[in-house]
Amino acid sequence: MTEQKKLQPLQAVKGMNDILPPESARWEWLEGKMRSVLQRYGYQNVRTPIVEPTALFVRGIGEVTDIVEKEMYAFEDRADKHGQAEHLALRPEMTAGVVRAMIEHSFLRDSGRRLYYFGPMFRREKPQKGRYRQFHQMGVEALGFHGPDVDAEVILLGSRLLHELGLKDGEHVRLELNCLGAPEERRAHREALVAHLEAHKALLDEDSQRRMYTNPLRVLDTKNPALQDMANAAPKLLDFLGEASLAHFNGVRAILDAAGIAYTLNPRLVRGLDYYNLTVFEWVTDKLGSQGTVCGGGRYDGLIEQLGGKATPAVGFGMGMERMLLLLEEVGVAPAAPAPDAYAVVPSANGLPQVMVALEELRAAGVSVVLHPGQSSMKSQFKKADASGAAYALVFGDDELAQGLVSIKPLRSEGAAQYTRRMDAAADWAAELLNA
Ligand code: ATP
Ligand code: MG
Repeated sequence: MTEQKKLQPLQAVKGMNDILPPESARWEWLEGKMRSVLQRYGYQNVRTPIVEPTALFVRGIGEVTDIVEKEMYAFEDRADKHGQAEHLALRPEMTAGVVRAMIEHSFLRDSGRRLYYFGPMFRREKPQKGRYRQFHQMGVEALGFHGPDVDAEVILLGSRLLHELGLKDGEHVRLELNCLGAPEERRAHREALVAHLEAHKALLDEDSQRRMYTNPLRVLDTKNPALQDMANAAPKLLDFLGEASLAHFNGVRAILDAAGIAYTLNPRLVRGLDYYNLTVFEWVTDKLGSQGTVCGGGRYDGLIEQLGGKATPAVGFGMGMERMLLLLEEVGVAPAAPAPDAYAVVPSANGLPQVMVALEELRAAGVSVVLHPGQSSMKSQFKKADASGAAYALVFGDDELAQGLVSIKPLRSEGAAQYTRRMDAAADWAAELLNA
């Protein structure tokens, strides 16, 4: 006899997670809460491909960013019959894809657009709690509006969402705000900043020394404790802002102040993508260690032109779904476990066709009812019914079947009596099982 080698099971890619019950119910709950808020602000859903031309992200996010330099899953597709292969990438974020789609379908011609998305993003980072290689974002993009009212609107939307999720401002999350000004102002600031970095060159690691000329703002966006003093003493962009930028920033702040949204000004907040200007903001928490940013966004008036469209103002944010769920768990916010209205206990296979027809009638009437799979003792079926969280057990025993009846046993109300109903008229009593 030949010995068969047992095949080893395969595993998911490192840093890419399966989302399974009961965890998946928390995701659906969170997505539902988000959709409800988005709808109240008039945002519409967009879905773009997960794979895009690599050039979209190089042009959109910027060549000298962590995402493009180190984290992007980029690959060459198979060659076509002419030997040409496309350079493709798994999207590391979705703003660039949304903008590409808006340009491609001429969606920005007549009026502005308020859009939202949900979906997976991919970055080849070191996996840890709150940081994965496939992660999910909910994001909004408001395109075609100069603001500052729209900047404030997306911040208010984020704030309402956090509030409705049970997160308290100041206790669980905090809003940080900055203004990155206009390109000319950034250039003037940048010259002063490069001079400052040159004076402290000896402190900088190899990466930072290279970046101080290509992207000096990013050198300040460091978590290295040895660089904090140097970074704190660096020239501040706020001091380089002209009248128009200051007016925009003050406009955003006036709305937030009037709406009672608390924020701290963080002149060091620059965000990891090149395309931002004017308003940038982050919602941060101290409950998730160094994965403390749950939401980040800002204005990106230059991106649409950068990607080949007509110059169009835009503002948006991306919110990390995994981090939101971790934070909610950390602070003890949990959705009620989803439970069916009823659980069907069927002690023998007799009459299964009629039983299943009755269950179909209940479902048609909006009742959620789970059928006990296969056969087992009444006792074990009742145990399952109880564990399911159902409000009622529907008992289709042989005695009941003989009379064309089903026994309805309330499971959650102490002392409530069991009663019977006609099996072939389920539509007449289905409503009794709802709103239990
Ligand atoms: P970080 O500084 O933590 O790396 P980031 O600035 O790279 O965040 P953004 O590109 O602004 O993040 O993405 C928006 C949000 O998406 C983040 O605030 C975070 O909640 C989430 N996020 C980003 N990268 C990851 C990841 N690798 N795993 C899980 N969530 C992530
Ligand atoms: Mg990052």
